[in-house]
Amino acid sequence: MTAAERIAALHPEMTEWRRDLHAHPELGFEETRTADFVARQLEAFGFDEVHRGVGRTGVVGVLRSGASPRTVGLRADMDALPIEEANTFEHRSRNARRMHACGHDGHTAMLLGAARYLAETRQFDGAAHFVFQPAEEGRGGAKAMIADGLFRRFPCDSIFGMHNRPHLAVGGFAVRAGPMMAGGAFFDIDIVGVGAHGARPEAGVDPVMVAVQIASTLQTIVSRNVPPVETAVLSITQIHAGDAYNVIPQTARLSGTVRAFSGAVMQLIENNLRRIAESVAQGMGAKASVDFRLEFAPLVNDAAQAEFAAAVCTELVGAGNVERNPAPIMGSEDFSFMLEQVPGCFINIGNGDTPGGCELHNPHYDFNDAALPLGAAFFARVVERKLGAG
Ligand SMILES: [Zn+2]
Ligand SMILES: [Zn+2]
Repeated sequence: MTAAERIAALHPEMTEWRRDLHAHPELGFEETRTADFVARQLEAFGFDEVHRGVGRTGVVGVLRSGASPRTVGLRADMDALPIEEANTFEHRSRNARRMHACGHDGHTAMLLGAARYLAETRQFDGAAHFVFQPAEEGRGGAKAMIADGLFRRFPCDSIFGMHNRPHLAVGGFAVRAGPMMAGGAFFDIDIVGVGAHGARPEAGVDPVMVAVQIASTLQTIVSRNVPPVETAVLSITQIHAGDAYNVIPQTARLSGTVRAFSGAVMQLIENNLRRIAESVAQGMGAKASVDFRLEFAPLVNDAAQAEFAAAVCTELVGAGNVERNPAPIMGSEDFSFMLEQVPGCFINIGNGDTPGGCELHNPHYDFNDAALPLGAAFFARVVERKLGAG
C-alpha cells in the first residue's frame, strides 16, 4: 500500500480533528486548548519527544527512525482570527468573535495526519521535526519560536510548510521558486504642530496640512524611487487628527503598511519614508517622528527545495495538477522568518471553490476537508524522500 493510500484511510479521523479545531478557535498566543490537543495526539501516536511551550504556545514533536543525523522540519500554523463566524454548520465556532477563517485548522490537521502515519510506519532514516506554530496572523509566532531556540534545539536541514489556496482546485498544488509572498511592514508617523483656534491659523502650525502633504508625497516613493521592475505597495490606511470644528489640533497621526519582495526594496522605502516625513514636516514648521516596523520578511523559497517540493507534489497528483510559477502574492506569511534560517519551501494546496464565499478571512470561509489527505501525504512523502533509507 502506498503512503497516499494509507493516509486516505485516515481521512475520517483527520476530518474529525479538523472540525473539532474549527469549533474551538483561539487567537495567537492563546492557543492553549489547540496546543494541548496537538501535543496529546502526538503523545498518543507514540512520538519520541513532544515539547510544549516552544515560543509560548507552540508545540514541537520529534520522530526518529534509524541512526542517520539527517533532519527535516514540517511546519503548520494553529491560530485563528478575531472574526464572528457567519457559517451555520455543525462545526461552526463555539467561541464568540473567534474563527478559523484562514484554514489553520486544516493545516494543523494535515500535519497531524502525516504525524500519525509516519509514527506508525517509520519508513525513513533520520529525525523529523513537526513544528506547530502559534500566532501566524501578525502576532509574531514564527519569531517567538525562533527566539526560543527552535532551530538550535530542533535543527532542520530543510523545512516545508503549506497554505490552502481558495480557487485552486482540490487535488492541485502550486509551487514557486524564489520570492513568493511579500514582506510586510507597518508604520506610524506622529506629527506635532502647534494647536490654535480654527479661525486663527496664523497663530498655529496645522498638523492636518502637514499630514496630507506627507501622505501625498509618500506616494512618490513607489512611483519615483522604487525601480519600475520591482513590485511594492505603500498604503496609508489611517489618518487621525482633531476632534472639534473650531480647533486646529496640536497633533496628527498617519499609519499604514508597506509590502515588497526584497529586503533591499523594503529598506529603500523605509529610508525614503523617514526622509520625506521628517523633512516635509520640518519644511512646514512641524515635527514628524516615524515608527517603522518590519512585521513579515519576504517569503523566498529556495530554488532546489522548491524543485524537490514540486517533485513530491507531482508524485501525488501528476504534473498537470501542479502549477509551477504562480504569480507572487502581495500578502505576507511569517513562515518567511523560518525560511531565512533554513532552506525550504512554502507551497499552496487547493481549497477549491466552495459555494458561499471561499475567501480567506471571510466570515463564510471553511477549510475544505477533501484536501486533508493530500496535504498529509505531501508532508509524509517529504519526510520519506528527504530521509530516504540508504
Ligand atoms: Zn490569514
Ligand atoms: Zn493563514
